Amino acid sequence: MNWGFERERGIVNMTIKCNVLDRQFQMHQSEYEEAALRVLRSGWYVLGNEVAAFEEEFAAYTGRKYCVGLNSGLDALIMSVRALGIGEGDEVIVQSNTYIATVLGITENKATPVFVEPDEYFNMDAEKIEQAITPKTRAIMVTHLYGQASNMEPIARIAKKHHLELLEDCAQSHGACFEGKMTGSFGISGCFSFYPTKNLGAFGDAGAVVTDDEGLADELRMMRNYGSRVRYYNEIEGLNSRLDELQAAFLRIKLKYVDNLNSERRALALAYDTGIKNDKIALPKVRPGADNIWHQYVVRCGERDRLRQYLQENDIQTQIHYPIPPHLAECYRHLGYKKGDFPIAERYADEVLSLPIYTGMTGAEQDYVIEKLNSFSLMNSERENCV
Ligand SMILES: *Cc1c(COP(=O)(O)O)cnc(C)c1O
Repeated sequence: MNWGFERERGIVNMTIKCNVLDRQFQMHQSEYEEAALRVLRSGWYVLGNEVAAFEEEFAAYTGRKYCVGLNSGLDALIMSVRALGIGEGDEVIVQSNTYIATVLGITENKATPVFVEPDEYFNMDAEKIEQAITPKTRAIMVTHLYGQASNMEPIARIAKKHHLELLEDCAQSHGACFEGKMTGSFGISGCFSFYPTKNLGAFGDAGAVVTDDEGLADELRMMRNYGSRVRYYNEIEGLNSRLDELQAAFLRIKLKYVDNLNSERRALALAYDTGIKNDKIALPKVRPGADNIWHQYVVRCGERDRLRQYLQENDIQTQIHYPIPPHLAECYRHLGYKKGDFPIAERYADEVLSLPIYTGMTGAEQDYVIEKLNSFSLMNSERENCV
């Protein structure tokens, strides 16, 4: 397909964005348009046949018995923690370099997050979990960050040994496996976001929980709809976190292609792996046995801000996931942490840079990014030569 990308005399005449969302729409445009019309004409817009069908298909995809469609990934996290009865006075173990939403899933229930540092793969360091367990610990919440499966064999073993619930934040890991087993199928609850930029992204907000636990699925179904199984008979204090028919219909289409979309990202990641040759830039590592669906391609650089500025000057957009680790976020000031408490997460926050990677990224676009990354090195040595 021609995306209208032109190179003139070696100069790219457009900005390379971090994310380009319309290309994945254009790839299957007529299917999405048909689905939209089907839903619009059906006269049924929230929690209907499309949602039920998507739930069945996504449960099957992840290898779980049940899927409950929700409003967002954050809701999936908050509601899972709540449905498990975890709240005030309880502690939940979570990695120190995750997205704020993972931690909000805990604190929105008045439970206390206990941070564990990440390993060299940006995921929870399994070796540091046991020292964080106290008599108050109720659960371990892992995030399969950037699309790479966490070290699930030891983590699941530790959870079992200490009788802790295991929850997975799979907002960035749709389809990523650990030793052949889907992320989201290790713990009691696999929490997914379908925010448009995610690998399985909707065209608006959406999320889901997958589980094999019938009781949990049941509780979540009630909770998402004002705590009622039968309309207006409210058994628990619920909320409104219903998935709508349009998003479910779109997600059913996207789900058919998500493995292809992930393969495309793997190819893009491989091209970065082999193309980037710059000793100032550390490439991401993949853990043996862990699959990576490359939600983000995250490099590390000691001069990250200068690299980012340099790329910006060359019309290449990048992002930082994430500039401030949760323990230092303004909103968690009351938890009493200070700089230096989680040095690995803090170092990552200073060094990580997410390169453009998206469905439909062309070879020419990626070559241009690689060329600029490699010439950042040249610029350095020229500088050094001048000194
Ligand atoms: C996106 C994301 C979430 C939240 O999902 P929303 O659908 O935006 O609420 C949670 N955790 C992680 C790791 C995410 O990347």
